[in-house]
Amino acid sequence: MSRFLSERLMNVTPYTPGEQPQDQKYIKLNTNESPYPPSPAVLDAVSRAEVEKLRLYSDPACAELLNTAAKHFGLRPSQIMPGNGSDENLFFALRAFCDEEHPLAYADITYGCYGVWCGLMHIPSRIIPLKEDFTLDPTDYYGLGATIVLANPNAPTGLALPRSAIEGILKANPDNVVIVDEAYVDFGGESCVPLIDQYENLLVVQTFSKSRQLAGARLGLAMGNEKLIADLNRVKFSLNPYNINRLTLKAGQAALEDTAYFDTTRAAIVETRGWTKQELEARGFSVLDSRSNFLFASTIRKDGGELYKKLKEKGVLVRHFDAPRIGSWLRITIGTPDEMRALLKALDEILEV
Ligand code: PMP
Repeated sequence: MSRFLSERLMNVTPYTPGEQPQDQKYIKLNTNESPYPPSPAVLDAVSRAEVEKLRLYSDPACAELLNTAAKHFGLRPSQIMPGNGSDENLFFALRAFCDEEHPLAYADITYGCYGVWCGLMHIPSRIIPLKEDFTLDPTDYYGLGATIVLANPNAPTGLALPRSAIEGILKANPDNVVIVDEAYVDFGGESCVPLIDQYENLLVVQTFSKSRQLAGARLGLAMGNEKLIADLNRVKFSLNPYNINRLTLKAGQAALEDTAYFDTTRAAIVETRGWTKQELEARGFSVLDSRSNFLFASTIRKDGGELYKKLKEKGVLVRHFDAPRIGSWLRITIGTPDEMRALLKALDEILEV
């Protein structure tokens, strides 16, 4: 242990990212990326001329991207802030709207980074257990007196709340910011973006990592009331004014504009998710009703950890979740149809059907 580490930092448990093997050995179904390449428009946008401009800083205001995003979402540019992945926007939001006296409320289970950031910034956590069936009771979040973050659809369960349920939470917490993390919303969730002009306490965070094929470019958008966005900009311009690099700005803009490619790829994933769920159920798995680009599944036929290991040996990488309250589950990203057939074949061999 380094003698230079402060006591405070030693209490921080960092997030463990999913495995990112740097070879092509695996069918990679572990970190909810898109199995499809970025839109051809992205390849054109990230041009040689743009690479040559890398000697210059990027636009700190991200004006072009914001104009495109504003048109796309029916908002004003001043209601949007781009982040280096939605992770950065979520972190900025916690920095802006929570501190040692202002806790953050979130579900158990949900995206692991919320708790990690609370640890790092000494923000007290108000952890609210999901129900036995992994659904979330919106009334648990009424009048909490805390900033709230909800992943909708949730991760790793994939379950989604209707917009009306989030509206109930917004109304019941008028003096607190409610952050809705919509990383997976494009695969069948109901976005809260249409509520932005009605609720000044609503901050929606979306990402380009899942439905827009740009996980490696790192781009997300925070969208909300102008005052909330001004607060986020205060944090951004204090920490990292050039947070979005030139290539990502171009890539993001092109991805947003290619709505046809977006629609085709997300429809393909939703369709593949449908039959993969049925095939898993036919093999005795319990599979939650996912509105995301992954399935959360478990079976009494074999321990999740054992399945994860055996699948990995066969070249299929999934994510294993294990906790006393939930048991042992696999989170399986939806890949191409061929990748899912390979997963099912590997499972059949492991389970000896
Ligand atoms: N929110 C949720 C619920 C996630 O699962 C993830 C990543 N898998 C993120 C946010 C962060 O995504 P990114 O930083 O790539 O936008």
